[in-house]
Amino acid sequence: MDTTPAPASGRLLIDGQWVDARSGKTFATVNPADETVIGNVAEAAVEDADAAVVAARKALASGPWPKMPAAERGKVLWRMGELILERLPQLSMIETQDTGKTLFDSGKIELPMAAQIFQFYAGTASKIAGKTPAARSDAFLYTTREPVGVVAAIVPWNFPFLLASWKVAPALAAGCSVILKPASQTPLSAIEMGRIGLDAGLPPGVLQVLPGAGSGVGMALVRHPGVDKVAFTGSTHVGKTIVREASATLKRVTVELGGKSPNVVFADADLEAAIRGAFSGIFYNKGEVCAAGSRLFVEKSIHDRIVGQLAERADAVVLGDPRDKATRMGPVVSAGQMDAVLGYIASGKTEGATVAAGGRRATEVNGGRGYFVRPTVFAGVTPQMKIAREEIFGPVLAVLPFDDVDDVVSRANETIYGLAAGVWTRDVAKAHRVARAIRAGTVWVNTYNLYDPALPFGGFKESGYGRDLGEEALDGYLETKSVWIDLGR
Ligand code: NAD
Repeated sequence: MDTTPAPASGRLLIDGQWVDARSGKTFATVNPADETVIGNVAEAAVEDADAAVVAARKALASGPWPKMPAAERGKVLWRMGELILERLPQLSMIETQDTGKTLFDSGKIELPMAAQIFQFYAGTASKIAGKTPAARSDAFLYTTREPVGVVAAIVPWNFPFLLASWKVAPALAAGCSVILKPASQTPLSAIEMGRIGLDAGLPPGVLQVLPGAGSGVGMALVRHPGVDKVAFTGSTHVGKTIVREASATLKRVTVELGGKSPNVVFADADLEAAIRGAFSGIFYNKGEVCAAGSRLFVEKSIHDRIVGQLAERADAVVLGDPRDKATRMGPVVSAGQMDAVLGYIASGKTEGATVAAGGRRATEVNGGRGYFVRPTVFAGVTPQMKIAREEIFGPVLAVLPFDDVDDVVSRANETIYGLAAGVWTRDVAKAHRVARAIRAGTVWVNTYNLYDPALPFGGFKESGYGRDLGEEALDGYLETKSVWIDLGR
């Protein structure tokens, strides 16, 4: 087992310098696998947000970043991607110790994907273009695309580095300056992203990093008149607060929020593949995935068989220190999150669902230290139960039987959320019909939880608005300016 320690401290990155918080305050970040403090990090507050906004505006008004040819900006982004790959062992250890995700997930999946995101947007920087409508003979009309300005990127703790890359990379490609506010549970890899930006050649003030509390520095950025856009990923509850607060200055807002995604298995599916997909669809990253397939709808004729096989797999999962190669699932991110997940498990039992697997804290792991929860499968779930309606954001699956296409489509849509969905069938027409009928931003067919930098990701309904990834994300960091040149009579 590799036990290289994560860095012991972190400072704020403001105007190209590593500095302490103006208040002198720090906060501890904890390894959820053993409850030890792994770092003390400067805690940014309102006055640090003010300083960062001044630096970000200066970088836009008079720094080299906006004057740089777009292709040169693209080269800096490409270099950021290379540096992520060069620093993979160190970065993945930091991410694993801060979040509890396995080293395989951080080092083989998520950080390489973040590198891909930077390199995808590196290529888009030089392709931003306006239009020249041929509408009038007496005028030359054209549009330009300009950076929206100063972006506050506020991200959650479940994929700290990867979700930051979803916002930082397109915003930089668009020519914006970015202030990154990581979640207070997981600040360490965002600090490393700041370091990578500086090492790759970002000028001072173009990417700044302000770890700290959401209610403190987070809210200060949302309210700040010098911030032009808030790019937020997090819970629906906080997303609504942010939209309300940002409306006072009418700044641009995109909100990528929670989900309670349906994953639908028809009896005619490749059942081996469907079981694998249903399993990783809920249990990847301990269920701390916004798109987790947390409501598994199974056609009645195969219901018992699928529940049995999922329970068998869940019972076989090796929980342990996420740095250990044998570990298949690490701890949930924090004591607070563990309590929330255990509360949902208790409510499922009280409301009469059947525990087919798990259903408890795993105190036998690591001598009782760490926030380990056994992967839990509930059968006999009815749509009114809390575990069928609310986002749990942990390793808890609710299985619900269904009769036919119409039945499952209407029940899949019976939710305030609309982030993602899955469909498993060998019938192509049925797959298309269901994909079309489900109100969600992403539908996976015969797979689950896959992402590509080119494919937009985001929500319908209370899962938010705006899109990460793809060209759509880039649009979110650009304003359109129309120019009318009179050609005379
Ligand atoms: P959260 O909403 O509690 O926090 C997200 C971020 O917002 C953190 O950085 C936090 O410090 C900050 N914040 C909190 N209150 C704030 C405020 N009043 N003003 C400004 N900033 C504030 O979410 P979380 O618990 O960190 O993450 C889990 C949630 O994120 C889940 O609901 C999950 O579904 C969602 N999520 C969505 C996506 C997506 O792409 N749609 C991806 C990952 C996670």
